[in-house]
Amino acid sequence: MSVDTSGSENGIGSKKDLIEGATSGALLKAQDDCYQFTCIASHEVVNVHNTSYEGENGHTYSVHFEDGMPVRCTCKAFEYHSGMCKHGLACLLRAPIMVAMSTPLVTDGGSQDGREALQKAYSTHIEPEDQGGEEYEKCRDCEHELLSKLGGFDQLTHSLDCRHFEER
Ligand SMILES: [Zn+2]
Ligand SMILES: [Zn+2]
Repeated sequence: MSVDTSGSENGIGSKKDLIEGATSGALLKAQDDCYQFTCIASHEVVNVHNTSYEGENGHTYSVHFEDGMPVRCTCKAFEYHSGMCKHGLACLLRAPIMVAMSTPLVTDGGSQDGREALQKAYSTHIEPEDQGGEEYEKCRDCEHELLSKLGGFDQLTHSLDCRHFEER
């Protein structure tokens, strides 16, 4: 048996463990840098792009999840330092990401697959009160959005390079 230096028995820490095990530098960057999150495998992998370093390539890393918690990342910091890196922490600190990654899979004989894929393709938001407080849906790919009452994701116009464009 190998020795797990992270200190947790099964290798999957709680949110508290991950935050306490992280360096303060990583935690600070996870809070203050701007990130774009793309779920590329439901409940398993989120691609995290650090938009605070616009103009440089190579700032997208894949954070892998197990049981709804970030467990590893493809970045160098995660590889060479102990504790969770800023990418995993950035997911951890953003409730919508954690909710999206922890929602149990619906296994309904496979008939729901298409519908489930569509649900994963957009996120639902509420406008600030002073903008009307309406619910709207936003494409995860091209980030175009439309009020839910106007049809939401089903009716919104995707950008030409969005992978949902051709589905229309
Ligand atoms: Zn990382
Ligand atoms: Zn789109």
